[in-house]
Amino acid sequence: HSGFVAIIGRPNVGKSTLLNQVIGQKIAIMSDKPQTTRNKIHGVYSTDSSQIVFLDTPGIHKPQSKLGDYMMKVAEGTLNEVDAILFLVDVAEGIGGGDRFIIERLKQVNTPVLLVLNKIDRVHPEELLPIIAQYKDLYSFAEIVPVSALQGNNVANLLDIIVRYL
Ligand code: GDP
Ligand code: MG
Repeated sequence: HSGFVAIIGRPNVGKSTLLNQVIGQKIAIMSDKPQTTRNKIHGVYSTDSSQIVFLDTPGIHKPQSKLGDYMMKVAEGTLNEVDAILFLVDVAEGIGGGDRFIIERLKQVNTPVLLVLNKIDRVHPEELLPIIAQYKDLYSFAEIVPVSALQGNNVANLLDIIVRYL
């Protein structure tokens, strides 16, 4: 199994932390070099049986300018080309306007979207179910996976799930 995965989500939801956690679990290549004009490879996770190339996808946020508008079109192009999209949200913050904006963009894309509920260490377990229900109302996610990127909880399981989409 090998393929490309885009990580999206509004600032501070834990995208970098998740990637560090994933890459920390297995030796991998980290690169800040732009690979194409539209994508940046953020990290490569590889095992004997699988390789996942994580792409940083800037520009999916609410555009502030004409350039932002163009960036968003480019981001949508990328999102249509990858094997899966990880949409990270912060469960402790709740659904914000930024999340809703991204979800509207995702409706224009055909790639499976895996909702990653990050920062579960910051909420009580019983709070999780109503949060999941709120997100399910907004979009039909291929998977919903709660994790703590910081503590590493359920990150190995997330990787197993991602591999099924490659
Ligand atoms: P990004 O902007 O989406 O890349 O977010 P970062 O990875 O930079 O994380 C933003 C902040 O959230 C940092 O202070 C992280 O330590 C914190 N953070 C990320 N993941 C978790 C988590 O699972 N639990 C907690 N409590 N904090 C987290
Ligand atoms: Mg970051």
